[in-house]
Amino acid sequence: MIHFVGAGPGAPDLITVRGKKYLEEADVIIYAGSLVNPQLLEYSKDVCTIHNSAKMTLEEVISVMERAEAEGKTTVRLHTGDPCIYGAIREQMEILDEKGIAYDSCPGVSSFCGAASALDLEYTLPDISQSVIITRMEGRTPVPSKESIQSFAAHQASMVVFLSTGMLEELSRRLIEGGYTEDTPAAIVYKATWPDEKKFICTVGTLAKTAAENNITKTALMIIGDAVKAAHYDRSKLYDPSFTTEFRKATK
Ligand code: SAH
Repeated sequence: MIHFVGAGPGAPDLITVRGKKYLEEADVIIYAGSLVNPQLLEYSKDVCTIHNSAKMTLEEVISVMERAEAEGKTTVRLHTGDPCIYGAIREQMEILDEKGIAYDSCPGVSSFCGAASALDLEYTLPDISQSVIITRMEGRTPVPSKESIQSFAAHQASMVVFLSTGMLEELSRRLIEGGYTEDTPAAIVYKATWPDEKKFICTVGTLAKTAAENNITKTALMIIGDAVKAAHYDRSKLYDPSFTTEFRKATK
């Protein structure tokens, strides 16, 4: 059995209870060494074999899984954050399907949630934004042209940009071209929930400068939109005394 497990954004106690149990029981762990906090490996048992996938190809990852499976062992494939976001899990699952190897998936706390907690931020403030756009600039992995930053910027929704710390001049240019003003609030969160976490509030126009001044070149998220620094927003209806919900009658 292969368990795909979300490691969470960094802090080792931000893995789920289920994910930790899988780590404790695993005979083999293949972890994404470029971003997963190695402290999580301390949950493993002494006899566990550990592989760092940062140094492996897809074929090598699969062959470790296949060998473990043939020996009746349990494998954890540990991905950073939640495996469903830029986790490259489908390509592994498809090969496992072909080989008839069983797997399941255990969610994790994505870094965009870890970054929000670092900033005490709510992406979905009433009257500011009720949507979160998760995207990236294209790198070696292309982004479909109909998902351009400019086209997303037109919505003025809360936006979280992954995998793009080295392209902030271009990110700002596209955000402004798409309709954000230069002074729209933005934030950069580096290594959210790790001990060396850093967070900076800036604006769409100062993203690149802020990163350069603080030597932030990777492992960061850019958060864009008024939710970062909303001066005025409407209270939620859910806790409004004059509003009746399924669980509570209006008192005024
Ligand atoms: N599956 C992961 C994302 C993997 S893509 C998740 O759900 O978070 C890798 C990118 O995620 C990094 O380039 C960076 O943009 C972001 N990232 C991962 N961990 C981070 C953290 N702790 N703080 C800030 N950004 C992080």
